[in-house]
Amino acid sequence: MVKIKFCGAAGGDVTGSKHLIKTDSGEVLLDCGLAQGKRSESLEKNRNIPIDFEKLSAVILSHAHIDHTGAAPILVKNGFSGNIFLTPLTAELSRIMLLDSARLQYEDAKFYNKIHQEEGDKIEPLYDEDDAIKTTSLFNTRDRREFFSPIKGIQAGFLNAGHVLGSSSVLLEVEGERILYTGDIGRSNQIFLKSPELGKNIDWLITETTYGNREHGDIKDIENEFSNIINEVYNEGGKIIIPSFSLERTQEIIYIIDRLKSSKKIAEIPIYVDSPMSVRITDIFNKNLDELDFSNEFKKYAISDKDPFGYEYIHYLSSVEESKRLNDKKGPMIIISASGMCEGGRVLHHIRNAIDDDRNILLIVGYQAANTLGRRLKEGAKKVKIFGLSHDVNFRVKSIDFFSSHAGRSDLLSYVKGISPKKGVFLVHGEDDARTSFSELLKENGFKNIYLPKYCEEFNLK
Ligand SMILES: [Zn+2]
Repeated sequence: MVKIKFCGAAGGDVTGSKHLIKTDSGEVLLDCGLAQGKRSESLEKNRNIPIDFEKLSAVILSHAHIDHTGAAPILVKNGFSGNIFLTPLTAELSRIMLLDSARLQYEDAKFYNKIHQEEGDKIEPLYDEDDAIKTTSLFNTRDRREFFSPIKGIQAGFLNAGHVLGSSSVLLEVEGERILYTGDIGRSNQIFLKSPELGKNIDWLITETTYGNREHGDIKDIENEFSNIINEVYNEGGKIIIPSFSLERTQEIIYIIDRLKSSKKIAEIPIYVDSPMSVRITDIFNKNLDELDFSNEFKKYAISDKDPFGYEYIHYLSSVEESKRLNDKKGPMIIISASGMCEGGRVLHHIRNAIDDDRNILLIVGYQAANTLGRRLKEGAKKVKIFGLSHDVNFRVKSIDFFSSHAGRSDLLSYVKGISPKKGVFLVHGEDDARTSFSELLKENGFKNIYLPKYCEEFNLK
């Protein structure tokens, strides 16, 4: 018997990836992501994970994003003590990100409980820092192509997924069935990672479909657009505030700025990276410049430039005092800070500080989910609330849509064609429009047995 149960990132959800492989000798979970989005729904999904913890023997994590790893401490809190397999870089990044997730939940609960004090409504964090640390002690790292057996009867291995540093697709061989789970897969043409590897002789493919109905802008225009914005603000003495995700997006932006600086396409403008997590993650990237995940073009650049993340001239700030001092400094300057959707973190202070002045620019470089401050600003709000206080929006808001670490629609199609699964394709990690539209595209291209699993739906693979 081989079954798969879709316990998250199914039924139109993009977050909370959890796919359970059930066999006679035990159960293995592919990814254990935190459900995010609307509070009440995600809380319910995170509190009641539809998995029998006693039967679960091992977990395999594809990459360090919280929507793929952030519920692992919930398993551990409930008694799970098996192996968690992942690549060494995913382990290194996840150690930082899981602790951060525990801290965010603590802050989030504290804030929620304060504003709901009168109604007596209270929430508890899903887990604390100790649970996150216990989770990382179960990490069991495996290099790509180093085949391993998570439980008796299953062989597993990691393929490069080209999504973020360390990210992998997971190949499983169970009772003669070859199953490939993409995790999240990157684009064919990226800023500094290699394109994803294809698996061979695959029976069943479980693929993400985040951009199943959309394409991305062409990456080759990115340097021009970036340098125009930087030079314009420099001449006016303004500030560019860039809210950015700490993993990958921040490093991509720094690398592009470094290229622009080396080729003298931008003025000498002071640059600050103001987020402790971004600073630590950039250090991991910088320590691993020879990592196989990086494209040859990036490696060549890194060797000739010697400092692709600009340590010689970028101010990497960790302490709160350094961050506060930045508020008193006058432009021109670029501030790259988290969180990526302006929902919390130091970027809020910088936005509050810059919002009055029309010389300043808020530069949006990533996806902004509905109901976030980033989304409201991107959509042209004239007035916003920050820390409960109302502000007129006088700074200009620009957005650059080239960045994405997910394969677009045509990349996804080439990927599925390249793998050409013999028995079936499961579409997960996509909103319903994206899944339906991509499923039509696959049918037009001759694929059969395409499934759009619902939340908790189970299928027999053998
Ligand atoms: Zn991801």
